Amino acid sequence: MIEPLVETVKALGRKRFTVEYPEERESLPDSYRGMLKLDMETCISCSACEKICPNKTITMVEIITDKGLKKMPQIGIERCLFCALCEEVCPPKCLTLGKDTDIYETYDKRTLIKRPEELE
Ligand code: SF4
Ligand code: SF4
Repeated sequence: MIEPLVETVKALGRKRFTVEYPEERESLPDSYRGMLKLDMETCISCSACEKICPNKTITMVEIITDKGLKKMPQIGIERCLFCALCEEVCPPKCLTLGKDTDIYETYDKRTLIKRPEELE
């Protein structure tokens, strides 16, 4: 009967395991892979990223740029495996995995589909 009480008192003296997110954040390892970033200026619309993606996360969509209509990757980030294959095959290295951790903070799943403009 006294055991739960003893455990509770012990727990009070222990370090907290959780943090007050989002004010407090855990430090990330160097190898952490987060939100994809796209440099729209250097994308050559080759679709290599779309073809290599193992989880069909990338869809090429048309967007209007200064140079006219161009196809660029749209990412359904909820399906991303953070495997970095798209980064590896991108010829101009304009699609890269960033360090952004706030990827899934949403009440609306539709916001997880990121248009090319939102990846800049
Ligand atoms: S990191 Fe992998 S899963 Fe995510 S978009 Fe790139 S290829 Fe697809
Ligand atoms: S992001 Fe890279 S791989 Fe994807 S279409 Fe643009 S240039 Fe090609």
